[in-house]
Amino acid sequence: MIVDLNSSKARDFNCDICVVGSGAVGLALGWQLLSSGKSVLLLESGGYEHELREQELYRSSITGLSFYGAQIGRFRVIGGSTTRWGGQILPLEPLDFQKRDWVEASGWPIAYSDLSPYFALASSFLGSDQLNFDTDLLSRFDIAANPFDQNDLNYFFSKWSPHPDLRTVYLPLMQEAENLTLLYHANLTRIGLSETHESVSFLELKNQELQSFSVQAEIVILCLGGIENTRVLLANDSQKKHGIGNESGLLGKYLQDHPFLKVGTVNARDPKTMEKYFHARRDESGRGYTPRISITAAKQKELAVLNASAYLEPEYPLKLLTKCQLANLLRRVKEGGGSARQISEHFQSLLGAEMQLLFGKMRVPRSQQYTLCMMTEQEPSLNSFISLSDKRDRYGIPLTKIHWDTTEKTWSTVLKFSELIQKQFLKAGFSEIQFFDYLKTSYQNARYLFQDFYHHMGTTRMSASAETGIVDQDSKVFGLSNLYVISSSVFPTGGHSNPTFTTIALALRLLDKLELLKQES
Ligand SMILES: Cc1cc2nc3c(=O)[nH]c(=O)nc-3n(C[C@H](O)[C@H](O)[C@H](O)COP(=O)(O)OP(=O)(O)OC[C@H]3O[C@@H](n4cnc5c(N)ncnc54)[C@H](O)[C@@H]3O)c2cc1C
Repeated sequence: MIVDLNSSKARDFNCDICVVGSGAVGLALGWQLLSSGKSVLLLESGGYEHELREQELYRSSITGLSFYGAQIGRFRVIGGSTTRWGGQILPLEPLDFQKRDWVEASGWPIAYSDLSPYFALASSFLGSDQLNFDTDLLSRFDIAANPFDQNDLNYFFSKWSPHPDLRTVYLPLMQEAENLTLLYHANLTRIGLSETHESVSFLELKNQELQSFSVQAEIVILCLGGIENTRVLLANDSQKKHGIGNESGLLGKYLQDHPFLKVGTVNARDPKTMEKYFHARRDESGRGYTPRISITAAKQKELAVLNASAYLEPEYPLKLLTKCQLANLLRRVKEGGGSARQISEHFQSLLGAEMQLLFGKMRVPRSQQYTLCMMTEQEPSLNSFISLSDKRDRYGIPLTKIHWDTTEKTWSTVLKFSELIQKQFLKAGFSEIQFFDYLKTSYQNARYLFQDFYHHMGTTRMSASAETGIVDQDSKVFGLSNLYVISSSVFPTGGHSNPTFTTIALALRLLDKLELLKQES
């Protein structure tokens, strides 16, 4: 059932499980819970359409490096950011979970092998195939082997969800559901704790008319996205002085994204070979795949660098963008409420993503020139954090203040990875890379070059103990018996992989722990 809280007569709701947020994670949980036999309430602040007044709730002040994703990299609507995301699928790698003595504050309390059993089901949820990301896809696309020295570079494909707007698949199922109600225009405004502060006793909701409602649930799972989970926990400070789950003082700390940078260009000597190895492609059923390169685990250790990946973006003439696609781009940015400067600065990066989509849909001339794009892991740092502003939203909740910063290791990773790719390109017979001059600059200047990539991680850190994190290894908030957070905000470190696939695997693992996982892949 799907219900608009703006027109609800009921004021109090009871359920077994309350999932808050209907983005990628909320929909994945809702989908699995459809067959759980439990009564489920899926709460969503937004409605069916993107609305400026909802998006305003995400307004943030920025005090560190530019961080456009706070405003235009998340969407407050049914389906959350998946209404506008790319849908690129790639799991984190085994080394990403390990403690690395050359990476500050690294190490998850769980291993890759704890999550990998849920990848097949996460793939089914996103509509992707069950092939592995390297050997299976290489042979599918007639590529004999990794063209590089496999001690230095990995070569693999990421996948794209064929139906990235997940609402189109899962809302019809929820509309029909008997045990699940999706309640929209339902804004979580307060988490009420029991007298002993050891469990959540109620949630306060407000609709768009500012009327109050209350929810009582056995289990509450917060799925508000990488930034908003943190804001809500910090803002609930009336019963817990520094916010819920913040005994460690680390709530909001270690903000990470995937710093993104264009590092150089490649003029193809042999366009046909370049197309074979570096162009995005679709299979017969229309599923998209993008070739990527990353540094091997052994090489990361040898060079003492972070994880990082790169891909080649073919340069096509601008005239290929249709008027309609241009209008779409501008609308997308405008709805996020960006300034004219933000719009123009972001136009170029969106253009790149748009070209990849476009490429899958129409035949374009073979590209002669490519841009080498890089996204790196970010070393967790206490100097990169989320806190609360003095300003409040229309529900009286403090707005978010974001201070995003990188460490010098990000820059040394870019430089060493660039060197490695150049060496391997020449060895493999590909054309030489012409690096941009700004690679010669110092880290202090270079940090301003990084763009955020709308992957918000780290600020409700998963940890083995309450002294060093916010949630335990099952994503349960320390000190509370029935409150969970599922989001990339729990990632202690984020590798280079787009985070959503791994986050969905975390959600499915939680259901398994709660003995609520029903569907096999
Ligand atoms: C343009 C773009 C491209 C992207 N491309 C990729 C990609 O290719 N691959 C990838 O892995 N990731 C990508 N991402 C990131 C990806 O979209 C997010 O990682 C993912 O959506 C996170 O899912 P989530 O459920 O945690 O949060 P969200 O999808 O943000 O959902 C959170 C939900 O919570 C709701 N909510 C928030 N606050 C409240 C409240 N107080 N009360 C009730 N409800 C509330 C929101 O309205 C929203 O529906 C992209 C993001 C953008 C913007």
